[in-house]
Amino acid sequence: MAVMISHTSNAQKFLEDASGLTNSAGNPRVKTLIHRILCDSVKIIEDLSVTPEEFWRAVNYLNVLGVRQEAGLLVAGLGVEHYLDLLMDAEDKLAGKSGGTPRTIEGPLYVAGAPLSDFEARLDDGTDLGVVLFMQGQVRNTSGEPLAGAVVDVWHANTLGTYSYFDTTQWEFNLRRRIVTDANGRYRFRSIVPSGYGCPPDGPTQQLLDQLGRHGQRPAHVHFFISAPDHRHLTTQINLDGDRYLHDDFAYATRDELIAKIIFTDDPERAAAYGITGRFAEIDFDFTLQLSDQPKEQQRHERVRALEG
Ligand code: FE
Repeated sequence: MAVMISHTSNAQKFLEDASGLTNSAGNPRVKTLIHRILCDSVKIIEDLSVTPEEFWRAVNYLNVLGVRQEAGLLVAGLGVEHYLDLLMDAEDKLAGKSGGTPRTIEGPLYVAGAPLSDFEARLDDGTDLGVVLFMQGQVRNTSGEPLAGAVVDVWHANTLGTYSYFDTTQWEFNLRRRIVTDANGRYRFRSIVPSGYGCPPDGPTQQLLDQLGRHGQRPAHVHFFISAPDHRHLTTQINLDGDRYLHDDFAYATRDELIAKIIFTDDPERAAAYGITGRFAEIDFDFTLQLSDQPKEQQRHERVRALEG
């Protein structure tokens, strides 16, 4: 029979003290959060009879997670980041906010301040010999009006499944651009077809997923922030149709409305019209934003991001 002491007044007083609830300095919100975390932690330790060995293994795990900069990957892999999306969806429903392209997770690999251009851009620097991708579409609002001057902030992995900046062998903004839509709300870009990717196989996220009997793979995808004045900021991704992990994403980011059809073509005449030779791929994808008069909703959530700030 496990020994339970967390309900005793001594233990409760001690946890309140450790959380700073018994002093008047510090930050009340942080105290409330830490108090709850401490109370729930000792409950877990008691209820599941966590051994000292397990406890210290978990402490060490957090250290390794930090050293490897994988905390953002772990919260995606455990589905917590997707859970936040589900929660925001439910809040929207309750508030009567509906329509538009669904949100999905940002992931940990955005870099702020990518080069900005009007209407079109080339994302790749020509060093990755992947299949050339032409993507285009329109940004509209839920009333169907095209949004001129919207910013399509796009980032994706290369054919090895790595991201510039974090993969220091690439130029820091390779496969990253911000494109301002034209008078008809349209954007277009040339890039390369990205690959899916997995968690670093020797890292702590994959190590934990192994213990859960889960893989750490993502389908090929392209990330977007879409924003326009007087509209709600959208954080989303498109997932490329046909990928074997499309409906088995370790980060749970795929949503039906975000599956993008990708058409591969070998037609030399059409390639020539694009000014290229060989096989290429095309994606057409439109984004729809909800109206908003609230400045906070018009911006992405605050979090620590590379080069932001
Ligand atoms: Fe990604």
